[in-house]
Amino acid sequence: MTENNEPLVAENIARLKPYHPGKPIEEVQRELGLSHVIKLASNENPNGPSPKAVEAMHAAALRVALYPEGAAPLLRAAVAERLDVSEDALVFGNGSDEILHLVCETFLVPGIDGTVQADPTFAMYEIYSTLANADIVKVPLKNFAHDLDAMADAITDKTRIVFIANPNNPTGTLVTQHQVERLLDRLPARVILVSDEAYDDYVESPEKPNLLPFVRDGRNIIVTRTFSKVYALAGLRVGFAVAPPALAGYMNRARSPFNVNLVAQAAALAAFKDVEHVRCSVAANSAGKRQIYAALESARIGYVPSEANFVLIDVERDSREVFDALMRRGVIVRAGHGLGLPRHIRVTVGTAEQNTRFLSDLLAVMGR
Ligand code: PMP
Repeated sequence: MTENNEPLVAENIARLKPYHPGKPIEEVQRELGLSHVIKLASNENPNGPSPKAVEAMHAAALRVALYPEGAAPLLRAAVAERLDVSEDALVFGNGSDEILHLVCETFLVPGIDGTVQADPTFAMYEIYSTLANADIVKVPLKNFAHDLDAMADAITDKTRIVFIANPNNPTGTLVTQHQVERLLDRLPARVILVSDEAYDDYVESPEKPNLLPFVRDGRNIIVTRTFSKVYALAGLRVGFAVAPPALAGYMNRARSPFNVNLVAQAAALAAFKDVEHVRCSVAANSAGKRQIYAALESARIGYVPSEANFVLIDVERDSREVFDALMRRGVIVRAGHGLGLPRHIRVTVGTAEQNTRFLSDLLAVMGR
């Protein structure tokens, strides 16, 4: 409040809940005096970026006195060609977080429009919807997965955006082609479906949907993807949207002119072209999940099978206890408390060595 009792911010801003990111390695090292800390908390790629991306970053570093090309033309051309969409169907952002923010800023009329999302799902849908002062409807997951029929039932005259995270964070579950097509059949014309596909490259299920044909047909769909996960460039911040050009055009007008920096554009392009590096990361993730599942099954610990690069584990008690005990042993995971699942932890699939360390510490902490 100011001196004359005027609120400092609008009511929707006062309502914002802070986003709690995974705890950084350096912070845990400082706080607990540990030297060997591993972080399996933010679904980063433990194999690191393509060496070709690192080389591109070094070369680009020499050019940072100049502004980047605002439209990311080289990256745009490469992504458009691979996805078989027109270049004006793409919007690049400072991570897909910025893209989600842009979607809300561009398409929600504050105080009037509404959004529908699952519960729990990726926290930023709620934060950006609140920033846009939207009416937020949360639809509980069913068996840890999106309940798309219930989400379609939850659409009202106010609804402008329906968010799905596919696979979902924090559960790793997939919405199938059949399910998403049923939802599309029920979407009123003015509703935009946002399909957040941050973990798309990791999906192994043959039921993985492909929404790009609908985007090419001009349906009200925005697909979001990121260079933070399989491309291992989380620290650089690059993500993008694929949308019908009419929608992408509005987002491109709303974004800041130089939102993707020069080093990030160069690295993302090199990483995108290194298909073999991506293939190795996906294979390593798949093997890592099998390693984690096998150990959990033999210790009779429940988990949700995942189509992403993380696993949700039932720790059968307050997840904060397990989170704290693992942290004291130098293993950072995500407590389910902040994610709406108080009995679960979410762990990122690490290297084989990191997984072994996590699993032996988890079994010790859980007394198995
Ligand atoms: N969507 C989902 C489902 C995520 O889990 C994340 C990262 N935690 C993001 C989007 C944002 O990723 P970035 O901004 O790094 O692209």
